[in-house]
Amino acid sequence: MANKKGNGYRWLQVLRFVVQLGFWAAVVFAAFNTKIISEWMFYAVLLLGVFFCGWVCPFGAAQDWAAWLGRKLRLPHFRMPQGLQQYLQLSRYVLYALLTLGIVVALFKGPYHYSMLLHSVFYTAGAIFVICMIVLGLFTDRPFCNYLCTGGARMGLFSVLRIFGIKRNTASCGGCGQCSRKCPMNIDVAHTDFVRHPNCIGCLQCVSTCPKKCLSYSLMPSVKGKKS
Ligand code: SF4
Ligand code: SF4
Ligand code: SF4
Repeated sequence: MANKKGNGYRWLQVLRFVVQLGFWAAVVFAAFNTKIISEWMFYAVLLLGVFFCGWVCPFGAAQDWAAWLGRKLRLPHFRMPQGLQQYLQLSRYVLYALLTLGIVVALFKGPYHYSMLLHSVFYTAGAIFVICMIVLGLFTDRPFCNYLCTGGARMGLFSVLRIFGIKRNTASCGGCGQCSRKCPMNIDVAHTDFVRHPNCIGCLQCVSTCPKKCLSYSLMPSVKGKKS
């Protein structure tokens, strides 16, 4: 959801909300095949990063809205400490590896199967699981995306090759840390010169938040910098 304080880039989050809502409506009214769009978005990942997760995926949007509602209701909001996050964020990649080996059940398959889960609402354990994730999302940002989604993991792995990402202007950065605190994927943007983290979902919340406007979505710099 949009950043209330604003820095001139608030419109990005308003636009993202509208796009997410549009895709939700499209899914509800079965206007498109989510599998098709997820497949062509997958190739865009190589160039642009995982915009599918930040802008299109209805399950990701639902978690965003749950987090927004949780904040509105002033519910406690938990953010995984970075020391733990750096290990726990590997869980979805481990699940992906296990899934690839055929060990994990379809419940964890991610974007190509979440619609199947949603369609089975009230009848399967998958539906209960989805609801639990949304409820958990009231208290923490994108729990499923951060730790369980193997589809997100798959796209994330390919996204490390992308040529666009979040660039931080270190000269003007004041080190306030707001970008890191706002990131729904718990990426430490404030200490990263150029974000190409596989968990980055391209939501641009960090860009919309930075009070000094020193974050931008840019071509990868030719000079080497510290990367997340
Ligand atoms: S990580 Fe998975 S559930 Fe989350 S937005 Fe991406 S595809 Fe959707
Ligand atoms: S680094 Fe920025 S664009 Fe990437 S997930 Fe975090 S807030 Fe979104
Ligand atoms: S929000 Fe902006 S000024 Fe603050 S740490 Fe992040 S990049 Fe630096």
